[in-house]
Amino acid sequence: MTIKPVIEQDLCIGDGICETICPEVFEIRDDGLAYVINQNPSSDLTSAIREAIEACPTECIRLEEDE
Ligand code: SF4
Repeated sequence: MTIKPVIEQDLCIGDGICETICPEVFEIRDDGLAYVINQNPSSDLTSAIREAIEACPTECIRLEEDE
């Protein structure tokens, strides 16, 4: 099973918390929004991704889980 993080950018306020917690997967770009830079993160990043999801103030990161 792969876990793919998705950002609902309409809700992103660009505070960069996700990037601070997991820079391997999240990046703030010049437009002030967070982007997913790793569409297929390895399993050792799962806990950091989940931590970023918990910490996001607008709850705009979710996981899509594919079999
Ligand atoms: S933590 Fe959430 S609101 Fe903050 S930059 Fe990341 S996606 Fe956007």
